[in-house]
Amino acid sequence: MAFSEVCRICLSVNICMFVLKKTGLQNLYKTLTNSFMDENEDPIIVCLTCHARLIRCRRLQQQAIDSNAVLKQLLAGGSMVLSIPSIKRKENVFSSAKLSLSFNPT
Ligand SMILES: [Zn+2]
Repeated sequence: MAFSEVCRICLSVNICMFVLKKTGLQNLYKTLTNSFMDENEDPIIVCLTCHARLIRCRRLQQQAIDSNAVLKQLLAGGSMVLSIPSIKRKENVFSSAKLSLSFNPT
């Protein structure tokens, strides 16, 4: 079995595979594995399931980055209006596409 036929995350074989080389997911994989990739190294191959997991992980990472930026701005005394397209409004009983936030320390 060739190394390139194995998913680098779950070790599955003989299923649909994706190559992560030269995608943002390759950097995420390196972050998750604390690894440094050589440009000459074999491309990272992952299965369909792990590819979807990496995409969800990237979304979570981006949401955390965005939320951290908002909180930092609020703690610095600012206020802002946010677009919240990722929030399921019916489940959270939001009636507007915008949410106003301000921070008032008491
Ligand atoms: Zn996999």
